[in-house]
Amino acid sequence: MAIQRTFSIIKPDATERNLTGAVNAVIEKAGLRIVAQKRIHMTRQQAETFYAVHKERPFFGELVDFMVSAPVVVQVLEGDNAIAKYRDVMGATNPANAAEGTIRKLFAKSVGENSVHGSDAPETAALEIAQFFAGNEIVG
Ligand code: ATP
Ligand code: MG
Repeated sequence: MAIQRTFSIIKPDATERNLTGAVNAVIEKAGLRIVAQKRIHMTRQQAETFYAVHKERPFFGELVDFMVSAPVVVQVLEGDNAIAKYRDVMGATNPANAAEGTIRKLFAKSVGENSVHGSDAPETAALEIAQFFAGNEIVG
């Protein structure tokens, strides 16, 4: 299996509850390596750009409001098959449907306030990483 990188966000509901380390422990236990990480307070512009794919969805305004409501931790994760592996580790978008042991089952509050983001494909991973990190900030 190829070594890949994926982009992760620890969302406001998790940073507000001081769960950054707890989320990172699940990530690392799953065999993913955190090769870049920073805590930022997203601007509305950054959140709208990041979630532009969802701009026609009814929850877009709520989603942007949530993402700028408190700090987030943006990360690059590296490992075998990292994109699909992290999606598995996160669990289903709605925590009510998430499998036992997943980050969303453990920590998420609702379908909107669901603790983490992870890229869904190699192309989106590359774009998302480039939105938040310079090449020299990623140390594998
Ligand atoms: P993410 O892209 O954040 O990793 P995902 O790929 O599991 O999550 P998407 O369908 O891409 O889910 O939705 C993006 C985000 O929009 C979700 O993580 C969630 O925060 C929010 N969202 C999705 N569906 C709803 C909904 N029905 N109501 C409110 N917020 C929603
Ligand atoms: Mg998504």
